[in-house]
Amino acid sequence: MMGTQAMEMDHTGVKGGLLIGGTWRDAPRCIANRSPSDIDDVIGEFALGDAADVEEALHAARTALKTWGRSNPQWRADILRRTGDILLREAGRLGRILAREEGKLLVEARGEVMRAVQIFYYFSGECLRPPGQFLPSVRDGFNVTVAREPVGVVAAITPWNFPIAIPAWKTAGALAFGNTVVLKPSEITPASAAIMADALAEAGLPDGVFNLIGGLGADIGTALIRGADAVSFTGSGPTGRIVLMEAARAMKKVQLELGGKSPIVVLADADLDLAIDNAIDGAFRQTGQRCTASSRIVVEAAIHDEFAERMAARVAALKVGHALEDGHDMGPVTTEAQLAKNIAFVGEAQGEGAELLCGGHALERRTRGHFFAPALFAGTDNAMRLNREEVFGPVAGIIKVGDLDEAIAVAADTEYGLSAAICTRNLTAAEKFRREVPSGMVVINGSTSGSDYHAPFGGRRGSGYGIREQGNAAAEFFTEIKTTYFNHALAPLGAGGGVKF
Ligand code: ADP
Repeated sequence: MMGTQAMEMDHTGVKGGLLIGGTWRDAPRCIANRSPSDIDDVIGEFALGDAADVEEALHAARTALKTWGRSNPQWRADILRRTGDILLREAGRLGRILAREEGKLLVEARGEVMRAVQIFYYFSGECLRPPGQFLPSVRDGFNVTVAREPVGVVAAITPWNFPIAIPAWKTAGALAFGNTVVLKPSEITPASAAIMADALAEAGLPDGVFNLIGGLGADIGTALIRGADAVSFTGSGPTGRIVLMEAARAMKKVQLELGGKSPIVVLADADLDLAIDNAIDGAFRQTGQRCTASSRIVVEAAIHDEFAERMAARVAALKVGHALEDGHDMGPVTTEAQLAKNIAFVGEAQGEGAELLCGGHALERRTRGHFFAPALFAGTDNAMRLNREEVFGPVAGIIKVGDLDEAIAVAADTEYGLSAAICTRNLTAAEKFRREVPSGMVVINGSTSGSDYHAPFGGRRGSGYGIREQGNAAAEFFTEIKTTYFNHALAPLGAGGGVKF
């Protein structure tokens, strides 16, 4: 069984290496993992692998595939269930490390850890539920079976905004259906994934079934994609396009979960308190750093002014501060670059004539962190850069519309298509919106963010590519179909190959 290292982490001196074939090892190059709440708080040094490390990890995964790929599903189910149990046992400690490295509030971080636990439990059950078919044949003496086999070695490439949940749903899904994994977590938040690796080891996962390579995408991405059988990527649109091109060149199965510019529509008949709660949740929770964030708030004219005024008051009152301290509504922005991007978007939107209702500037706090006052704009239109490009921060614009038809047109007028929400009491309007809006997910009277792990997750157009993640879509991505024709009666084929005309 693979050795553990990250489990010995406490709040100081965390060290993360590369996990290859069940053995943790160091690398000549490391990166310091600093807390965005306090850049003087160094969570640890994490190894940066190179292309040779990737080759070794892929080799280990391919070797392990020979047994894991044909293993008893009960065994796989037990390991995934135990991994969930271990993450649950470690939830307090892991939640703190996640909050420290990503900057989301402790309550949000603990929620994410619990989601990872649920995902492992869910995929434990999925081990025993691979889809299959038995069909009568159109040829006498034959029958037809449609079985699922593992795709093979899965490269999982993950971003910084959900450092445990996204690695969990890619890893658990892949392992459930008999694949082996090489995970490359974000270099910005490597600690949580290292702890997940230790949990898998403690749960009894054989050496080489799961491998972890820290590193910079630009250094190791290509080697990883070329050597794997399938690539599951979550991250930004520009990087996603690079991954797609590399995967296409090598003819690899690929799924991409990318960004969004998700609209929340508020009609005049909406429950306004609930609509404001939904918009605040969607735009600002987790510092707006969710691909499903409600960054366009589309409001019917009759209630626009009241909505904007009330929402601005709520946003201005949000307390921003250290992720581990009580009493805050929002943690810091995860990276300095993202903070600069948020501020740049605010300046540009003002230059385009949008009215800044509140926030939009860096904040000083007790510690040296990347704090930002959440920004809400009114008077925006859908052509502004603010409403066309993903900010990936707590910056949202209100767009005034005349009626439902205009709201749907605005919602649809984007190159993205991840999530879309509508707040209304009108069933007909809700159903029209559900049918007509071109997005992967629709929410009625809720936030664009938030999803269930047992339902497919993902978007269309610029927001996603390939088969969805989670729910029963996971089986589609993590398996290949094998159709078998079985001449059990040893029937002669005869004219027409045995088909009756
Ligand atoms: P984010 O900033 O949201 O993390 P990125 O798309 O930059 O989005 O990164 C997502 C993941 O993709 C990270 O693990 C990153 O290291 C990785 N990555 C970056 N560049 C490449 C690349 N050229 N090939 C493969 N992976 C990459």
